[in-house]
Amino acid sequence: MLSSLASSHPCPHRLSFTLPLRPSRPRLCFRACHTNQPLTRDSTASLALSQSGPQSRPPLATLKIAIIGFGNFGQFLAKAFSQQGHTVFAHSRTDYSSIATSLDNTTFFKDPHDLCESHPDVVLLCTSILSAEKVLQSIPIQRLRRSTLFADVLSVKEFPRSIFLDLLPSDFDILCTHPMFGPESGKYGWNGLPFVYDKVRIGDSHEREVRCEAFLEIFRKEGCRMIEMSCKEHDEIAAESQFLTHTVGRVLAEMGLRPTRNYSQGYDTLFQLIENTCSDSFELYNGLFMYNKNSTDLLDRIYAAYEEVKKDICGMVQGILRRRLYGTTGIEEHEDRVARCEAFLESFKKEMPYDENASGIHFVALTIGMILSKLGLKPTSIDTKGYETLLKLVEDTSRESFDLYIALFMHTKNSNELLEQLDVSLASVRKTLYGRLHDILRRQLFDQPGIKAAL
Ligand code: NAP
Repeated sequence: MLSSLASSHPCPHRLSFTLPLRPSRPRLCFRACHTNQPLTRDSTASLALSQSGPQSRPPLATLKIAIIGFGNFGQFLAKAFSQQGHTVFAHSRTDYSSIATSLDNTTFFKDPHDLCESHPDVVLLCTSILSAEKVLQSIPIQRLRRSTLFADVLSVKEFPRSIFLDLLPSDFDILCTHPMFGPESGKYGWNGLPFVYDKVRIGDSHEREVRCEAFLEIFRKEGCRMIEMSCKEHDEIAAESQFLTHTVGRVLAEMGLRPTRNYSQGYDTLFQLIENTCSDSFELYNGLFMYNKNSTDLLDRIYAAYEEVKKDICGMVQGILRRRLYGTTGIEEHEDRVARCEAFLESFKKEMPYDENASGIHFVALTIGMILSKLGLKPTSIDTKGYETLLKLVEDTSRESFDLYIALFMHTKNSNELLEQLDVSLASVRKTLYGRLHDILRRQLFDQPGIKAAL
């Protein structure tokens, strides 16, 4: 029912749901082993401190970092950690022993108990957003040192902050981070790429500060733009732009656009956007959808903007037709635009060798630009490369006149077909998202024995 609702387009209904979906749970109250031991140099033996004079940079250290969730992003981070000389312990649902073996200083632990007994300095949660809570609960934290630093890299921030505070004993330090790049956008290096972090709870001791700084130093050293920001602020600024970027990438991918030699206007960034967003798992996109309270509203706004663009096209095309049939539209300004549009069309005919694919890509890019222009996007302090591509598209589109857009619509033989494909792709992405949401809600409802019996 939800998925059929989602697929009926345009969708006047707004589904509303409240997140987080997890029921409240009593706080865990067991303590980690060695709880009675004070944190000493000894207990942070793997921290190999170097110089730390008042004028110098923060001291460097070699850390033992446990990556929990050794999928796409976990492995990507592990490479950088191990290349910088840190020791990586990895654990995941899937056995990635052979991948770990191929990396320097990296060991895969099938059993999380063994990993925890190796006493990492940092435990980095790197699982999907949707599995994060379950995975955190499955870590035998009683085997860790009580001074352990817990960090995460989830693309949303208030949620991991809340589960850390809820589920970890107060002795553990907490650092929430978001490297705002991925294996694709960061494959040529991390220089200048934003890294957001929030020191949620760092114990009041020099060693704990040093360890936290040593972890942050990994990203600093790679040239990341370090941005300290609260989890709340991060989500307010980034949740919507990330979800929008991934949606545009996935919709374009659904349309099956393929690069062509003749496209002129730097649309390579658009193809990069498709590559970057679609090389990430659907699970990640779904997490952005589920943990962004504005995502359903944003989907509705995209649809509404798209409908408006189509209406604008119809208005102009009717104007051209009327002029051709009756010689005048009766409205001077409109007539001017129709004439300009016809002039563009003439110049297209004369100057541009017709290439259906190139023309189609140009038309789709401008259409997306038109839709995004209606959403009123704004640059933020933590834009990803993908979001920058969207902003650039809006800027490029605003430089082109609407008359040129209509001329391109007329010039492109299959423009109507492309608009239809865009319709279908938008509906398909939305249907998949709501389908997953439906599955999750159903599982939550029917997996609880009391409710199951009542229903
Ligand atoms: P992802 O699909 O978000 O997460 C994949 C990871 O989650 C894998 O390690 C997988 O374990 C684990 N996982 C998924 N479902 C699980 C379950 N039910 N139980 C236990 N483990 C489960 O893809 P990702 O790209 O690797 O992202 C990992 C985290 O990094 C996410 O929180 C994401 O938001 C964040 N992040 C990603 C990027 C990026 O560009 N990719 C950038 C910044 C932050 P197995 O592989 O063992 O199945």
